[in-house]
Amino acid sequence: MQNDDKVNILVVDDLPEKLLVIDTILAGLGENVVRAHSGREALRQLLDREFAVILLDVYMPDMNGLETAAMIRSRRQTAHTPIIFITAFTDDIHTAQGYSLGAVDYIFSPVVPEILRTKVGVFVELYRKTQQVRRQAEEHVVLAREQAARAAAEEATRRSTFLAEASGVLTKSLDYDATLRGLARVLVPFLGDFAAVTVLDDRSAEWKTVVAWIDPATGNRKRATLGKQDLAAVMVDQIDRVVSTGDTIFIPDRSTRSVVDKDDPVVEYVMENAVFAAKSAMIIPLEARGRVLGALTLARESANRQFGSEDSILAENVAARAAIAIDNARLYRDIQEDDRRKNEFLAMLAHELRNPLAPIRNSVKILQRFGLKDDEVNWASDVISRQVEQLVRLVDDLLDISRISGGKIQLNLEAVDVVEVVDIAVETSRPLIEARKHVLAVELPTHPLWIKADKARISQVLANLLNNAAKYTADGGKIVLTVGGEGSDAVFRVRDTGIGIPVEMLAKIFDLFTQVDRSLDRSQGGLGIGLTLVRRLAELHGGTVEAHSDGPGRGSEFLLRIPAIAETLPQTGDLVRSAGAKQPTPVHILIVDDNNDSAKSLGRLLQLSGHHTAIAHDGPEALRQVETAVPEFILLDIGLPGMDGYEVARRIRDRPDSER
Ligand code: ADP
Repeated sequence: MQNDDKVNILVVDDLPEKLLVIDTILAGLGENVVRAHSGREALRQLLDREFAVILLDVYMPDMNGLETAAMIRSRRQTAHTPIIFITAFTDDIHTAQGYSLGAVDYIFSPVVPEILRTKVGVFVELYRKTQQVRRQAEEHVVLAREQAARAAAEEATRRSTFLAEASGVLTKSLDYDATLRGLARVLVPFLGDFAAVTVLDDRSAEWKTVVAWIDPATGNRKRATLGKQDLAAVMVDQIDRVVSTGDTIFIPDRSTRSVVDKDDPVVEYVMENAVFAAKSAMIIPLEARGRVLGALTLARESANRQFGSEDSILAENVAARAAIAIDNARLYRDIQEDDRRKNEFLAMLAHELRNPLAPIRNSVKILQRFGLKDDEVNWASDVISRQVEQLVRLVDDLLDISRISGGKIQLNLEAVDVVEVVDIAVETSRPLIEARKHVLAVELPTHPLWIKADKARISQVLANLLNNAAKYTADGGKIVLTVGGEGSDAVFRVRDTGIGIPVEMLAKIFDLFTQVDRSLDRSQGGLGIGLTLVRRLAELHGGTVEAHSDGPGRGSEFLLRIPAIAETLPQTGDLVRSAGAKQPTPVHILIVDDNNDSAKSLGRLLQLSGHHTAIAHDGPEALRQVETAVPEFILLDIGLPGMDGYEVARRIRDRPDSER
């Protein structure tokens, strides 16, 4: 037997020879016999280790056996350690006292070796058994604890994985409906066999419920979107209660049986297969920024999966995250909606502003044509003309931006010689460049260079860059326009000696409504639209635009890159221009416009150029006029009341005599 497997036996006697005798007798047991010469020494030994049995001499000086026993019993660890008294007297009183102190036996001295060994042997055996049982029990406890800890850890992992997954789903999209669907999906089957996300939309006053459930037949997850009318009245009441109080409610057993209205065939499936069998349910408010947006309903089919406090903590955690996600998605949707409305408003505003500009512009041109004698009036009409042109430019930019934002712009692509683009752009910007007394240097490519572009649009882009160069350079500055082929691109560079651009603004100036100087006294006040238009139009052409500047006061350079095309076509620009420069042959023109001032002023202007004009104010009148005299040209407004310009055009085209 191993040394540590031996059990301890304590022998207490004041006489060494008696100790020796007992020790010798017990040696046969093969256990560890510990000797103590007094009660005190015995107590000390008992502090150090555990004993299977104590042999205690009753008569000892100082502290006798009975007193020692009393002390031993009073200590919790030794309260039950068997004590055998050794005594020479068969004194009944002592015996009784000894028993009352928890002695288990008496042995009379002189001891009979056999009896002593047998009695001690019994206790040793008993001790061993007890130890074994205790060890097993301890092992059991440890094992059970380990299992419980493992299970708890697994559950915690499952829950945190679930929460992470839920958060992932909730933050993935800012789309309102996608967020609701994702949420319903992630809840099933982890938190319930059936989940419903109900939201009450404050804008549309709409009540919408997205449900997800497990199809018992296939085990697959299913989903549907229901309206308020699809839910049973009891369910609507419960959700209403949660929404108005903001408190979670648990619904026991039967009351969940009719979550969904049974009569609606669309939702029959949900009801029959999942919700009808629900055994327990809870409804949790979805609350964000102090407002309840709706509620989360979770139901379970199995009776032994009733919702517990852990579930509700988890569900409330998810509900809190979900509410924030739903709130964000809603805000985002509202912002987009506002943005769309603002764009519509801008488009309408630009349109409305544009309408009165046309007759003003025409009328000024008429005034100028008459070459008035009065210098003051001449001067005034020049001022009106310049200011109107500026207004027209701004309003046109505004119109273009809303067209581009609405995807309504269409490019009229053709092969264009870059020289032609430069000609048109320089022509457009010349008045401003000259007014500011700048010197413009143009460097054209030595070889023919062609791009596939909308001539008018790409010239507009270049003119915009030239105008900016003129605007943001102090009078008498220098502007250089260089055009050349670089790799597979045609590159237009517009450099100026102007105010320059701070480096941190370089990337931003292309954003809508962005301006470096937003102070009220900025002298060149535009709308901050031009460069946005430049970039979007460049991109529509498959090109790019960049800005460079060494900083304030050090000039700027804008670089427009448009893919070049290989083929060169016969140049038609000159032909067109020379044709345009010829005196026009008088023609008969019909003007169709519901704005009388517009129609009349345009008519006068055309008459001044020698043409014959007629006016119609709506579609039917235009058609009647075409019946009597077919014009060579028709200038047709699209936005006519009643029959629009497209319809008028179609009807005129349908006439057999209209091949022009
Ligand atoms: P706008 O000229 O109407 O303000 P733009 O979109 O054309 O709007 O330009 C945006 C801003 O970029 C301008 O307000 C100006 O601050 C800056 N900017 C544009 N071109 C130049 C330039 N050539 N030199 C210095 N700053 C410029």
